Amino acid sequence: MGIIHLVSLIIYKNVIIFVSLYIFSTLLIVPFVAPIGGREKVKHSKKIKPTNHMTVLLNRNYVKPKLNKLLIETEKELKGTNIEIHYLDANFPLLPHLSHNDGAKIDLSLIYETQKGIITNKQRSISRYGYFEVPKPTEYNQIERCLKSGYFQYNYPQYLTFGKINKDLRFSETGTKKLIKSILRNDDLGKLFIEPHKKNRMNLKDSRIKYHGCRAVRHDDHIHIQLNERITQVYKNVVRTLRLQKLVHFVCTFVFREK
Ligand SMILES: [Zn+2]
Repeated sequence: MGIIHLVSLIIYKNVIIFVSLYIFSTLLIVPFVAPIGGREKVKHSKKIKPTNHMTVLLNRNYVKPKLNKLLIETEKELKGTNIEIHYLDANFPLLPHLSHNDGAKIDLSLIYETQKGIITNKQRSISRYGYFEVPKPTEYNQIERCLKSGYFQYNYPQYLTFGKINKDLRFSETGTKKLIKSILRNDDLGKLFIEPHKKNRMNLKDSRIKYHGCRAVRHDDHIHIQLNERITQVYKNVVRTLRLQKLVHFVCTFVFREK
């Protein structure tokens, strides 16, 4: 009993230290370090909110200022509707992350409605991930294709729900379409990922709506958006050209120097 008591005391102490350090870094370190990497917190407003407060608690609410601008522009487009922008995972500013690694990407929740067709901002799972709007029997089924090809990770978000809620709600085709169309009005949008059957069901045609591929996870529980990085690419090309010019100049000077 003595050893168990001692071990639990050590664990308890370590947990307290960890939580204290975590809260300290969340409040006093991350917000000051993030701007160095060109990130800022997602700006909350009347319509822009985290779907889950864990996103904020885990510091996964950092984006590039341009992405904040995109969200604010989308909010303006949604004026007069009761559709809100509920964001899920964005970027943690200190460590790289597998997919959302640069602050240019963010996941958004789908829109749901009541049985009477009234749009609500409630969700279908506690984590807000993992509740799938599966393809109807008549719809193209990309999920089945990926799973049959051996990409088992495609289905992994099913383990992330932490429980299903609000069973009386249904996917709002009108609400989600309005949200996506409002996002698409922004020139800073580079790509938007959503499962093909949902894209077809909502009759969305924009070329920036892409398929994310079987190596990712399925996107019929959320929408993924990312910035247009074209300007960055142009800048990189200019730098590359200037470097090349410098190199050519150096080689020419060396080869044709007076002997
Ligand atoms: Zn994403």
